Amino acid sequence: PREIPSTCAYAEAAACEASCFLHEARGTMTTLPSFPEERDVTGEEPRIGVFICRCGGNISNVLDCSQVADFARGFDGVEGSFVLDFACFPEGISFIKEKIKELGLNRVVVVACSFRSHLAVFQRALREAALNPHLVTMVNAREAIAWPNREVPESALQRVKEELLGALGRARSLKPLRPSLREVTKRALVVGGGISGMVAALGLAKQGFPTYLVEKEGELGGQARRMFRDVKGRDVSQFLSSLIKEVEENGLIEVLKGYKVAEFRGHVGQFQTVVEREGTKKALEHGVLIIATGASEYRGEEYGRGEDRRIISQLDLEERLKRGEVKGERKVFMLQCVGSRDEGHPYCSGICCQQALKNALILADMGISVTVGTKGMVTPGDTFELYLKAKEKGVRFVEADDRVQIERGEKLIVNLGEGREEFDLVVLSAGIVKSEDNDLLSFIFGLPLNEDGFFEPEDHVATVTPVEFSKRGVFVCGVASGPKTLEDSIAEAKAAAQRAATILTKERIVGGTMVSKVDGSRCVACLTCVRVCPFSVPHIGDEGVAEILPEECRGCGICAAACPRRAIQLEHFEDEQLFTQIGAILSA
Ligand code: SF4
Ligand code: SF4
Repeated sequence: PREIPSTCAYAEAAACEASCFLHEARGTMTTLPSFPEERDVTGEEPRIGVFICRCGGNISNVLDCSQVADFARGFDGVEGSFVLDFACFPEGISFIKEKIKELGLNRVVVVACSFRSHLAVFQRALREAALNPHLVTMVNAREAIAWPNREVPESALQRVKEELLGALGRARSLKPLRPSLREVTKRALVVGGGISGMVAALGLAKQGFPTYLVEKEGELGGQARRMFRDVKGRDVSQFLSSLIKEVEENGLIEVLKGYKVAEFRGHVGQFQTVVEREGTKKALEHGVLIIATGASEYRGEEYGRGEDRRIISQLDLEERLKRGEVKGERKVFMLQCVGSRDEGHPYCSGICCQQALKNALILADMGISVTVGTKGMVTPGDTFELYLKAKEKGVRFVEADDRVQIERGEKLIVNLGEGREEFDLVVLSAGIVKSEDNDLLSFIFGLPLNEDGFFEPEDHVATVTPVEFSKRGVFVCGVASGPKTLEDSIAEAKAAAQRAATILTKERIVGGTMVSKVDGSRCVACLTCVRVCPFSVPHIGDEGVAEILPEECRGCGICAAACPRRAIQLEHFEDEQLFTQIGAILSA
């Protein structure tokens, strides 16, 4: 069982695997639509066509559509008013296109259903009729008027007339809008050369995208270099060596070892990052960014760790197991939740219980007696089987909390409060803590951290794409965004690569048309828009006033409503357009 964000990550990971096989065929079966050259309507008086849809009775069973058409005919600029059975069906669309040409229409009002579901259909019809697609507006006569007023058709008729007046007013003030275009640098940057970073880099390179892989250490592998086996008993060292080999031999991946990130700027499709090694700087141009900076093991010195070779962490144990250094020990005590679920680290590290169970099983197989002191084992999904298996093999589980004391003498004596017991080795299940670089990287890249210091994509994006920040073109994977298993980290790395590939496959980033625009002459750089935008789009530019990039703005309009200087207008919903619409309704 998985939560929705994790399910989505696994789905994206599967898509990444498939894309690695299919990338050469990408686009080969796609035909792009071609449209006639757009007619310039600048300076023309509005010539409005009104099209009223019966929607197979959904609307016409409540509203007398002919009466609505007659009503529309009497208004300024209305060149024609027509009733259609299904406006969105091919016959309806052809009819609208014909009338645009025949009557020289330069504005269209469709009285039909929700613009959310159908505006794009009618916008395309305009485009095919050589008009700018933003010269159409809609009245929702179905969901908003006919359906809720089935029992009172007179009220429905009155409502639709009022809405139609508003739409006619709005239609007169509509302007053609054109999207901005930005070339995409078809290269990725992955920061962090642990397992997640390498998997993400390969996920992109295998789809044909050149990728920089920046690692601050002198070698690839991260924390996994210390790991012995994963929870399924697979040899991590072997997996890691073959992964490193594959990355280093891939001609599309440029590995930059020993480099740290120094500067970052730019926007989706065109980022520039400066990395630095021993005073030498290197500027990297890339279209997307994946953060895979990993995390660290909690290194607190409680219980005598660091002072006694017999008190170690699970990762220390794995290193010893790898080197064959676990030999004479007969009795091992494992203590859970060290640096997790305490005052300083209130979160559960999520993977230490599985790590302890996996290592306890390895020790049990070596004939070593293992006792696990725990506040309660956390074993989600199929890892519960590890717990059952450990019990079967004689691993003992005892209750233990932060009051456990360890006395160091010839033997290690563990005092659990209710009794003292001798052990040869104490293994602390140390939690996962944020990487020490997170604060600096968060500042350089302008990315949010959660209260525990891990990178955390914003809620409104993360619900369905846990690897994607609201800053477009920037992704995160693995334990950089919080503790998780190796398997989940790998899935996230592939998911991040796949999300990033959706940008790199494009030649250009097409900016939105219904986006906010700043009038620099009114802006006083009060930062209100910078603070309220849920997607962190507005910033104060070189001119000292707010700037909003159309390729990044999602058109929610929050900044336009919040700006105290009314310096921001949301295109297609400008104040003037809305006031004209409201004024027309009120005049009715
Ligand atoms: S809220 Fe308005 S005045 Fe303030 S910085 Fe943004 S655009 Fe400028
Ligand atoms: S319209 Fe929304 S997404 Fe665009 S800049 Fe304003 S607040 Fe941000």
